[in-house]
Amino acid sequence: MQNMFSSSLLAHLEKQLSFKKGGDIRINKTVAVAGGSINTAYELKTTAGSFFLKINDAEAYPNLFVNEAKGLELLWEHSNFSIPKVELLSEWKNKALLVLEFISSAKAREDFWGLFGKELAVLHRQKNAHFGLDHDNYIGSLPQCNLPNENWHDFFILQRLEPLLRMARDEDLLTRDICHRFDRLFLQLPHIFPVEQPALLHGDLWGGNFMFNAEGKASIFDPAVYYGHREMDIAMTQLFGGFNTAFYDAYQEHYPLEVGWERRMDIANLYPLLVHVNLFGGVYVQRLSNVLRPFR
Ligand code: ADP
Repeated sequence: MQNMFSSSLLAHLEKQLSFKKGGDIRINKTVAVAGGSINTAYELKTTAGSFFLKINDAEAYPNLFVNEAKGLELLWEHSNFSIPKVELLSEWKNKALLVLEFISSAKAREDFWGLFGKELAVLHRQKNAHFGLDHDNYIGSLPQCNLPNENWHDFFILQRLEPLLRMARDEDLLTRDICHRFDRLFLQLPHIFPVEQPALLHGDLWGGNFMFNAEGKASIFDPAVYYGHREMDIAMTQLFGGFNTAFYDAYQEHYPLEVGWERRMDIANLYPLLVHVNLFGGVYVQRLSNVLRPFR
């Protein structure tokens, strides 16, 4: 059995899983799963099949997994996507534990990207009266505040950009020039995004947050859900290179984006870029600066 798994943690997981699923479940093997940026993750190979376990520090990130579970459940309820089922939320010593259905990966179906685009359009047709959500959550390991607002530009400034700008400024990560350019951008924001009704978003839809499931369809996970401008999700798919063009074609077919959406992607991605500046610094500050160049 592996490193961080003390026998008491294993016994705790076995007991909780057995209670939840009914029957006597034993863990035969734990296998570290790479690819996460925030938590440590494992495949639990058990007598009842595999489960996916995430572990984090319960005190450093209060309710992180509670909110992740709520986000997954919202997506499950309001979309046709394959979403891993939440099996267990628990704490052990100072660790928070989240056990999910294990996604067994298969080869992508031929129409994988088209289906993915269509299902995202279906998700984005789930609407709300205002931007935000009835609870706060996280994006990665950073708190994400979802206080409601009637219009997108105010929500984007007040609940998305400003809190992360403050955080980055407090850590001396930004130049005065960048801060000034953000102020200029804020003046123009009311005229940048088209007015749309708040749409249910995954919220962190970069290439590391989906997998091919056993049927070769997209399974999405690790969300930072809220009702927002749907161009935020589209932009996030382009943060590190972009998805296949069939994805965008299918999305457009099922829920066309307003003219000029391509030009707004960089502005939308200022939010995840600020997340990256706060988590990793360095190269992301230069990317911010490039996007903000026109705002003088
Ligand atoms: P983090 O919150 O640390 O970013 P993720 O939730 O993104 O962690 O998961 C890390 C990696 O584990 C993913 O990139 C993916 O490869 C894999 N993964 C995520 N969820 C599951 C799951 N339910 N079943 C199997 N593998 C998963």
